[in-house]
Parts: sequence; structure tokens; C-alpha cells
Amino acid sequence: MTNFSSLGLQDNLLKAITDLGFETPSDVQIKSIPILLEQKTDLVALAQTGTGKTAAFGFPLLQHTDTNTKTTQGLILSPTRELCLQITSELEQYAKYIDKLNIVAIYGGASLQDQAKQINRGAQIIVATPGRMKDMIKRKIIDISKIEYCVLDEADEMLNMGFYEDITEILSHSPKEKSTWLFSATMPKEVSGIAKKFMNKPVEITVGQRNMSTKNVSHSYFTVSARDRYNALKRLVDANPDVYAVVFCRTKRDTQKVAEKLIEDGYNAAALHGDLSQNQRDLVMKSFRNKQVQMLVATDVAARGIDVDDITHVINYQLPDETEIYTHRSGRTGRAGKTGKSFVIITKSEQRKIKSIERIIGQSFKAEKLPTSEEICE
Ligand code: ADP
Ligand code: MG
Repeated sequence: MTNFSSLGLQDNLLKAITDLGFETPSDVQIKSIPILLEQKTDLVALAQTGTGKTAAFGFPLLQHTDTNTKTTQGLILSPTRELCLQITSELEQYAKYIDKLNIVAIYGGASLQDQAKQINRGAQIIVATPGRMKDMIKRKIIDISKIEYCVLDEADEMLNMGFYEDITEILSHSPKEKSTWLFSATMPKEVSGIAKKFMNKPVEITVGQRNMSTKNVSHSYFTVSARDRYNALKRLVDANPDVYAVVFCRTKRDTQKVAEKLIEDGYNAAALHGDLSQNQRDLVMKSFRNKQVQMLVATDVAARGIDVDDITHVINYQLPDETEIYTHRSGRTGRAGKTGKSFVIITKSEQRKIKSIERIIGQSFKAEKLPTSEEICE
């Protein structure tokens, strides 16, 4: 069996890995880390959610970073503020035995001045969302003319969110000779397009089957009439009182409405969507992570990539418009070898969508009946 030290990682990283309790590297780590450590190359890595992609680029990036200078050497672009903060804190844990290293998170919705101050103290690694990053380059607060590594994390999602032009603009300020590492769960043509445009003969790595969700998630759907959707959600929660769940809605408005109704009805829930302030979003995420909040009602964008352990259920209050998004949603549970359940509440007319999801995930759904009130009372 491959272990971390055989991948060529330095002692100060190996020590942090031991502290983190990572025993063996994941597939995407085994395939990427040695290449990224040994070769100055571009890389495209396809691996589903929860497979440890952050460490797959994070360890090599940290090992390549020269802490004797404050020059910005690495840039990681990621789609959302939450992910940006999550990657930053993950990298900080990996780097706990590396001195003089500054990793700075750059994202919208928070004070630009504060972020500029952090940048001015010198940041060897910047983790950023494209919008704010572009802005700070334009204002000449950030200089990426000397970066050696650029990571495009969750590339499919960044492009889904319409960041193509921002990414192009940002990269036009970076040197041609850098290495670009692209990580993505899926490979739609937009992603191959960006790979073609910005990368030079990238090494390609695929882990598992494309678009296949993890097998330790079981999928069930419950057919109800449209006006019973909310009651169905309550029943599902009542029948599973220990749920620790993300409830996905299609719009910000529905997300807010469902969360409010749940709270009114005495459930422990909170909403997460883009109309909240950054502070509110941070607070909600913190309470969910600490399990003070049991049900996070969220939009796809807000919940993208969020890595919270122990999520028992993903509840699709409404199905997403695109089947690929379903893969991302259900990937929130069943992580790190644990089992999870993905529930979908649908109306009769939506049943055909289940078929196309089944094709994509390579698993079949169980058609289940909602628990009756008698079953819940027992
Ligand atoms: P992805 O970006 O592929 O969705 P993450 O990088 O967010 O996945 O990792 C998912 C979770 O697995 C994180 O909590 C991370 O700390 C953990 N993890 C990563 N690599 C390992 C490993 N080799 N052993 C155990 N846990 C790991
Ligand atoms: Mg990730």
C-alpha cells in the first residue's frame, strides 16, 4: 500500500499529515502528488467531490513554495467565498510546521482594505474567488507577475458560475511559464476548452469513473403532489430525528422560505444563500459545522464544495435543473468511508428526471413511500 512518505513529501508536511490523522493517500493524491513534485508540468485532474483534491494540489504547492521571499508564488482560484476560506484553513493546517509562510484568502463581500493589508504583509500563496481577485489586480494591490503555480479548483463550477472572463483576465496578468493545475469533478466542454486555452500539454489524471457519485451513498425518491412538498420534508426529518443534513432548494427565495418555515415549526435549521451578508454566511457555516444547526437549507451555489464531515442526509427539496449538479449535491454525504443517504422529493411529472440522473450516477434510486405518522410516532 502506498503511504504519504513514498510520494516524496518533506518531513514538515509528513508531520502535519500525521497530526491530521490522514493514514493513506487517496487515489487522486497518489496520482497527482509525485508528478507535481517532480515535474514542472500542467495538469488536469478529474476526481469526484470528497476525494481529497485540496491536498492533491496543496501538498505539492506548499513543498514548492520558497519562504525565504515574500513574493507571491502560488495562486488558487476557487468558485465561492466559503470554498476559498475552507481551502485556506486546510492549507494552513498542512503548513503548520512551515515557518514564514503567509496564505491569504481574497474574496468578495468582505473588506477590501483588510485584504489589501494582508497582501501588503506579503503572501506567498493567495486563495481567491475570481471576481475580487480581478478587482485587486486591476487596482494594483496584487501582483501575480511572478507566480509559478496557478490552481483552478472546482473548474467546472467556476465556469458554471460565469467566471470564464474573470479567469481569462486574471491569467493575462500571470507569466506564461507558470504551471497550471486544473481540478474538477466533471469535464464538460467548457472545462476542456479552458484547458486547451490556458494549458500546455497537460498531464491528465482521472480517478474513478467520470460523473459517478460515491457508492456509499444510497438514493431514494419520494413522489408527492406539489403542494405537499414541505410536509414531505417534515415527515422525512421526523422519521430520521438524528439527521444532520443539507436541504437543497432551487432558488434563494425558496431557500429562505423553507428555512423560515422549518424554524417556525420548531426545527433546528438555518438558511445559506447569496443574499446573506458574508458575516451571516460565515456564522451559519460555523454553526452548521459545530452541529449547533442540524439542517442547512441551501442553494447550490452557496453550498458548493463545502466539506463538512458526518452529514447523514442530503435532501433535495427540489431537483436541480442540471443532472450534473445532483452529483455535487449527493457528494456532500457519504464522505471518508461513511455511508449517507440522498433523498429526493419530486412530483409525478419529475419522475423521468430520475432516469437521467440514474444514468449519470450509475446507480439506481429506490422509489420509497413517505413514512406514515404512525411509523413516526413509534
Ligand atoms: P475534494 O476537494 O476532492 O472534494 P477535499 O480536499 O475537500 O475533497 O477533502 C475531503 C475531506 O477528506 C477533507 O475533510 C480532507 O481533510 C479529508 N482528506 C483528504 N485527504 C485525506 C486522506 N488522505 N486521508 C484522510 N482524509 C483525507
Ligand atoms: Mg475541493
